[in-house]
Amino acid sequence: MKLSKEFLAYCAELGEDTMLVQGAGGNASYKYNDVLTVKASGTWLRDSLEQSNFVSLDLPKVISAIDDGQARFDAAVLPEQSLKPSIETAMHALIPYPYVFHLHPVEVIASTVIADGQNICEQKLAELPWVWLPYYRPGSMLANAINTVLESNKPPPKIWILTNHGIIIADDTLEGVQQLLKTVMDRFPNTVELSSMEYATAQHSKHKWNELGYEQSLDPLFNSLVADPGCLDATQKHWVLYPDHAVFLGRSAPIYDHSIDDLTTFKAWIEQNNHPPLILLPKQDTILISKNAKQSELLMLECYCKILARVKNYQLISLPTEEVDGILGLESEQFRITIGR
Ligand SMILES: [Zn+2]
Repeated sequence: MKLSKEFLAYCAELGEDTMLVQGAGGNASYKYNDVLTVKASGTWLRDSLEQSNFVSLDLPKVISAIDDGQARFDAAVLPEQSLKPSIETAMHALIPYPYVFHLHPVEVIASTVIADGQNICEQKLAELPWVWLPYYRPGSMLANAINTVLESNKPPPKIWILTNHGIIIADDTLEGVQQLLKTVMDRFPNTVELSSMEYATAQHSKHKWNELGYEQSLDPLFNSLVADPGCLDATQKHWVLYPDHAVFLGRSAPIYDHSIDDLTTFKAWIEQNNHPPLILLPKQDTILISKNAKQSELLMLECYCKILARVKNYQLISLPTEEVDGILGLESEQFRITIGR
């Protein structure tokens, strides 16, 4: 299935905007004549100018696999394609519009991870064809929830707010999607001035952590996690606010709450924690970034810091530990990590 230049250019444009998608997160699809063409797992929207990022599937086969309770659609992939379809293929297949876009906008996620999120969204999105969906794990659980909404909402909603996750925008035309997304994002304006995120931390000269593969972060946004008491508190209590955070930054906050004078103990902690991409050192008023941190991990960290800057004073609702375990057990997510950068 050949995708239009306009579709691919729009995907790439969205993928460049880290307020809308981060790394391999977010995806897009197009349906035509029983063929569903969806972004492949692990690829980045911003690289979409090449169609090689997309996989075409037999749509009726995908739908019958969903009806059978399956979460894998490899058998529905049309011949001569090697990549796996997105973990979120089921949502694209079920939503009955030709164009479906799924994004992780910072402002939208921020509005759904707080206790009063639904009320806030109801006020912001009044009169639009939207629906609020409580949190469901990406994959078959989310697909089932979408199916239930579709049974009782006619015409099908075009805007889906996914609690602790993001947004889906769908429409009959690409122009329709573009207009809807603009309308929605205009109602979720940037609520934080960058200047309020300018956090300085203690300046350390070259330190022994360099030998352990880490460097002190000089990024004021990253430093907010230790320098701002509200952000540090939220980081300790609410590390996983949405699925991709757990996938890329792990199940628990990498906080080393001791002095690092005892380098051997610190080194052992790093190894036990599989060399996390970042380490928070509240005692040293410092955040360390691994020299091996991937771009996808840093983008996910940036997203988390931006969200906390918006919600640190609210009552937060993070994902329970069992749910985080479930997310990290998803096979396609593991695939996504292995081919991530
Ligand atoms: Zn998602």
